Amino acid sequence: MSLAVTLSRAQQGVLAPQVVVEVHLSGGLPGTAIVGLPEAAVREARDRVRVAIQNTAFQYPRSRVTVNLAPAELPKHGGRFDLAIALGILAAGGQVPRERLDDCEFFGELALSGALRTVPGVLPALLRARRRGRHVIVPRGNVAEAALVEGARIHVADTLADVCAWLRGGELPDPETVAGDGDADDIPDLADVRGQLQARRALEIAAAGGHHLLLAGPPGTGKTMLAERLPGILPPMSESEALESCAVRSVAGTPVDLACWRRRPFRAPHHTTSAVALVGGGSRPQPGEISLAHHGVLFLDELPEYERRVLDVLREPLESGEIVISRAMHKARFPARFQLVAAMNPCPCGYAGDPNGRCHCTPDQIARYRARISGPLLDRIDLGIEVPRLPLSELTAADRCGEDSASVRKRVVEARRQALVRGGLPNAELSTRDLERDCALGPSERAWLERALDRLHLSARAYHRVLRVARNIAALDGSIACVGREHLGEALQLRRLDQAAVA
Ligand SMILES: [Zn+2]
Repeated sequence: MSLAVTLSRAQQGVLAPQVVVEVHLSGGLPGTAIVGLPEAAVREARDRVRVAIQNTAFQYPRSRVTVNLAPAELPKHGGRFDLAIALGILAAGGQVPRERLDDCEFFGELALSGALRTVPGVLPALLRARRRGRHVIVPRGNVAEAALVEGARIHVADTLADVCAWLRGGELPDPETVAGDGDADDIPDLADVRGQLQARRALEIAAAGGHHLLLAGPPGTGKTMLAERLPGILPPMSESEALESCAVRSVAGTPVDLACWRRRPFRAPHHTTSAVALVGGGSRPQPGEISLAHHGVLFLDELPEYERRVLDVLREPLESGEIVISRAMHKARFPARFQLVAAMNPCPCGYAGDPNGRCHCTPDQIARYRARISGPLLDRIDLGIEVPRLPLSELTAADRCGEDSASVRKRVVEARRQALVRGGLPNAELSTRDLERDCALGPSERAWLERALDRLHLSARAYHRVLRVARNIAALDGSIACVGREHLGEALQLRRLDQAAVA
């Protein structure tokens, strides 16, 4: 009898593959069937859509209604297709015009009253629709995400009736564009950190090069405080980075806050966190902490307390910058390019090396404690330093406040710029070959470094890591082209924890 087609998008990781909703009305017993691998919430759309259509003063067809969601092999979940299904049914029955349907994508769950409800994970779909130049209709609850996608033809609707009026040539409001820079300045500042000059320096080097960082020291020395201040000295996020990061939050169902959408994320999951919560998973894959930290910082406090199994799953994303989750029906890929800051106590009680002799841990206990972190994980952490307990006099001296984050950030931005000009990548991501090519040491520096590594019992692999960090220190000094002995020396200092481990 009659066929109509509307467009929407499914959610698969941070992708938004297109879904074509075909609605066919035919003779036979009245009834509605939805086919095309719908999960429970999509099957229930049948009842929601029927009542919503009736409550919007339209007729629900008194015929056989077949709704096909294509492609059939793509799993579909949630109420996001309700609006597209309802409009397909109305168009097939000739109750709304079809002219605008080909050029438009629809998102929204229907309430029985015909009102549109927010759908999670709409941002990736909006980005894809923008690329196709189509009109997009979203519920008012998704207006914040819509506001981020500049240049898209997005319209905001409250009800099914609003959308039908728009299809007849009416108007719908566009989302307001974002005001402000989305990087509200109420973030923790480095000026709050007293003393700890070496730790501050290590933090700056980590920020400039994108290196992962391990802080070891007794409780209460400010390891957490330092870690929290890393996002504030990292270079500002580019628009595409910020959108990628917001897309993950959108998929996770976290509302996007327009006041700080361009702020780098800082995630600090507790050590009792499960592997699924950390890297993502579930029968319908959801992003985990590492993806929520995409383009930002993942802070793992008390690193040896995490289950070994949980830490082991970090290795793949640390290498590739993404995580692939496969479940029976679903396969999803989430981005996870984060900077890791880990903290640990020097021993189980936390006071090894304390001058007051509070620690009674045996060498054996200390060794076992440190061995809980696997070698392959430590291998990916370029910087490791001790954060010592400071004498009280240093903590209370009013004049020991350090430089503020804004000043440090300026140097970081400049060093990153230089690294990008020379290597095209942040230092920490340079391959061994790239390093050899554009960070060649003079013969005397090379010999000096080899001797130093030998003396400290460090492996050949450490050679490249020291070189990577040294190049970065040189960039902060404004002399990236010329890595000198002082840069190598400082880079070696920043690997103190390896040396402690072999000693
Ligand atoms: Zn101890």
